[in-house]
Amino acid sequence: MNSWSTVFLPPIDSRFVFPPLSLKDSASESVVTLPIKDQYSMYVCGITPYDATHLGHAATYLTFDLVNRYLSAMGKKVNFVENVTDVDDPLLERAKRDGVDWEDLAHSQIDLFRGDMSDLHVIPPQSYIGAIEAIPLIVEAIEELQSSDTVYSVDGDLYFQVNADEKFGTRSNLSREKMLTIFAERGGDPSRQGKKDPLDALVWLLNRPGEPSWPSPFGAGRPGWHIECCAIAMAYLPLDSISEHMIDIQGGGSDLLFPHHEMGAAQSRILGKKDYARIYMYAGMIGLDGEKMSKSKGNLVLVSKLINQGHDPMAIRIALLSQKYSLDRMWHESLLKDATHLLRTLALLLSRPEVAPTDWVIQEIINALSNDLDTPRAFAAIELWCEQTTVLASGAPTGSPGELARALDLLLGIAI
Ligand code: ZN
Repeated sequence: MNSWSTVFLPPIDSRFVFPPLSLKDSASESVVTLPIKDQYSMYVCGITPYDATHLGHAATYLTFDLVNRYLSAMGKKVNFVENVTDVDDPLLERAKRDGVDWEDLAHSQIDLFRGDMSDLHVIPPQSYIGAIEAIPLIVEAIEELQSSDTVYSVDGDLYFQVNADEKFGTRSNLSREKMLTIFAERGGDPSRQGKKDPLDALVWLLNRPGEPSWPSPFGAGRPGWHIECCAIAMAYLPLDSISEHMIDIQGGGSDLLFPHHEMGAAQSRILGKKDYARIYMYAGMIGLDGEKMSKSKGNLVLVSKLINQGHDPMAIRIALLSQKYSLDRMWHESLLKDATHLLRTLALLLSRPEVAPTDWVIQEIINALSNDLDTPRAFAAIELWCEQTTVLASGAPTGSPGELARALDLLLGIAI
């Protein structure tokens, strides 16, 4: 599937020092420092295309864009794969409810998403893979799971046995009771009769009347969501043959940690015979007026709507990055107002021939990002530099506005 337009990464001077990147890992519940290597692999779960792109989505993809940018700025290759779940229950249910064709809905939302990512200056993945195009890979993965005797049938639907992975539960660190509750809330079917364990994950759903299906050795049907990402990641990312993990970073919004990533990691561990991701990393949820943003609550703030209202995508980017990525947080118009103000101030100051020294602020942005993407610290430094430049006395030491502009673009994705 086509992704979106490539983003140019301007170079900055080699005198800046890049500390190794440390990121919060949910599995170990600690901040983990990535080892220094020539290349890294990152899988970020994409959208199910029925309500793209609200600010929660945008915050997630901007978070992992910062990871991509930091590692790229270090001169490393980042192998980045993202999926789009272009067939799944929520999409089919939404299309049915709204009386629209599910494929039309998916195509329109994927187009919107691509446009929003491009406007927000997000580096596209090398491989942007739809569930439908990945069906042959998913079928292969299920066959491999079958050959390891970890799949069984309930009336023709196939389930993965979670207890086949002795590490099941160690990425999300939830009690079994909590897992059962969340599983039921997030599309799981713990109470289905015939399952060996209520938490076992659907990998293939036999065709239901009125629903789309694809042929397979298990009968016509469609894939489960968790096996989709697992099969795509393992096929499209170069798997690390040296480390004890297959990939470096598994990312997404925090609502994906369980069950989605726990199931994916368990299946991957059976398929790859070693641990899946070095770091399981999550962006917090964005809420509005004290509630989680969701279409069912009718409180979605869409990126495209804000842009159509005349807001600069770079201001949206700053507004979402101004707070710590991992925190659940509320969206307020004041965030966008402050971000717009900062963007205009930067544009004005960076057009001056003489500005306050810039080396320290660029290094501070780098240091802040290296420390689990501490964007509030980076923006505090930028605000301070703006103050220093505003009151710059004649004859005082000066910096390079061009270099700071390139650093803002390269590291934070803020193109001015
Ligand atoms: Zn996924």
